[in-house]
Amino acid sequence: MKVLVINCGSSSLKFQLIDSDSEQVLAKGLCERIGIDGSQIVYTPAGGDKITTVSPMEDHTVAIKMVIDALTDQEHGVIKDLKEIDAVGHRVVHGGEKFSGSVVIDSDVKDAIKDCSDLAPLHNPANLIGIDACEKLMPGVPQVAVFDTAFHQTMPEKAYLYGLPYEYYEKYKVRRYGFHGTSHSFVSARTAEILGRDKKDLKIIVAHLGNGASLSAVKNGECVDTSMGLTPLEGVIMGTRSGDLDPAIVQFIAARENLSIDGVLDVLNKKSGVFGLSGGFSSDFRDLEAGIAKGDAACIRAVETYCLRVAKYIGAYAAAMNGVDAIAFTAGVGENGPMVRGKVCEYLGYIGVSIDDAANQVRGDEKIISTADSAVKVLVVPTNEELAICRETVALV
Ligand code: ADP
Repeated sequence: MKVLVINCGSSSLKFQLIDSDSEQVLAKGLCERIGIDGSQIVYTPAGGDKITTVSPMEDHTVAIKMVIDALTDQEHGVIKDLKEIDAVGHRVVHGGEKFSGSVVIDSDVKDAIKDCSDLAPLHNPANLIGIDACEKLMPGVPQVAVFDTAFHQTMPEKAYLYGLPYEYYEKYKVRRYGFHGTSHSFVSARTAEILGRDKKDLKIIVAHLGNGASLSAVKNGECVDTSMGLTPLEGVIMGTRSGDLDPAIVQFIAARENLSIDGVLDVLNKKSGVFGLSGGFSSDFRDLEAGIAKGDAACIRAVETYCLRVAKYIGAYAAAMNGVDAIAFTAGVGENGPMVRGKVCEYLGYIGVSIDDAANQVRGDEKIISTADSAVKVLVVPTNEELAICRETVALV
């Protein structure tokens, strides 16, 4: 089967066309600045060069039309006809409590995604627009929604409730949902495969450290805790997001900086994290690593604070699961950051983690980076959310 995987943002759209039999990516790309001046599509067929086409895209329907045109282009296309696309898999950010797995999209599902928009006001409406656009351009082709939150729906009540008046949960569904679920699911399952073990017998901690970052505790194949909450702002320190903090800071900063609550939240989302800690130097760990190599104190401060927070979450999840068999690092920083992995694992000797420094130099490849006698296996496992979405889509159609 050929599956088009779509990840629709408010002004961008990432796509991959995947052959589900070989699991090869036939083509991939990105539409940027949809609805804004200067929109463009960057398209890369497998084995070919990037092709950038600047063209107005007034909305997502136009963007998807351009994706289809690129895929079927006589010169650079990878399919002859739109009819070769057997199914579409959509990444949908928030499924609330309604979805604990992927679903074939129908009008009820679309209504339910709309109902969850309150919880993800930037993402769910954009995801719906992508779904509508595909329905319009590819009538009759089955479409599947794969939710970022679904994998975490197995969390027990004691892990997903906040210490708030219970009525807020009852009235507004204020609770921990978690995000990056497709990645946590894919990476935990792959970790078990690499170790040659059944995931049902393992306690795994997944550290998804990208621009956004979250950790999850996966026991016997099911998520029992995760670090992101009602929104993707909670948890570890991220590229530009603060992660956990004393909620009273919101009022404290608002009063002193003359900001509204929205204004403070904007700072917490966009100007905090390692970016904020480094005094606005960078949110990118490549820059921070370069700064540290030169002895830059701001970069050292940012990375040290980041690594301690990640290590503390791993300790917390080892406690939540009463042990841990494996820790898997994934996403941009987790896959490419020997320094971060090394610093995090330095805190974990007490649970029996021992890192092989030579193995830990790996960037971007699957590898066991713990020593042979390490009580806890530590691995680098590249995530592949698109492939996971493709597999879920095929399973349902
Ligand atoms: P997201 O999907 O959340 O946008 P990614 O998982 O792609 O993020 O991670 C992006 C981050 O990964 C970059 O901001 C950077 O900090 C980090 N990163 C990417 N490549 C490298 C590298 N070679 N070395 C260190 N860090 C890297």
